[in-house]
Amino acid sequence: MAETVHAEPPLIAGEAVRVGEDGRPTLIGSVCSDCATRVFPPVPLCPECMREDMAQVALGRSGRLYSYCTVHVAPRGWSVPYIAGYVDLPEGVRVFTHVVDAAEEQLSMEMEVELTTAVLGNDADGEAFSSYAFRPRRPEGDDA
Ligand SMILES: [Zn+2]
Repeated sequence: MAETVHAEPPLIAGEAVRVGEDGRPTLIGSVCSDCATRVFPPVPLCPECMREDMAQVALGRSGRLYSYCTVHVAPRGWSVPYIAGYVDLPEGVRVFTHVVDAAEEQLSMEMEVELTTAVLGNDADGEAFSSYAFRPRRPEGDDA
C-alpha cells in the first residue's frame, strides 16, 4: 500500500486552522475589539455587541469535552461512523469538532482533550482531506 509518499492531506478548514512548522495546529477565532467576546470559527460581526471590529486570535489547543455522539450518516465523502462533539476552550469558546483517536466508550463528559488534525474523508476525486479534530489529551512528551 505504501508505494507513494503523499504530502499531508489538505486541510479543509480554511482560515479556521493553521498548522505551524512544528506540525501542530492552532485554531483561529475572532475576538471583538470592543467587548472582547471570542468566537470560533472566525466571523466578521460580533455576536454579542454587533460591532464589526473583529480581529483574528489564536485559541488554546486544549479544552474539555462538553458533549459528543457517534454519527453514522453523513454527507458524501465524510468517513463514518465518526464521533462529533463540542469542546469548551478556556477562552469561553465552544467548538464543534470531530473527536478522534478514541472509541465512544473511552470518552466522558468534561474529559480533557487536545487539538490535532485528522483525515476525515475523501473529496469528489477520492483524495483524502483532513481538518482539525480533538483527541483525548495525552501525557506531556507523548507525541506518538
Ligand atoms: Zn463585541
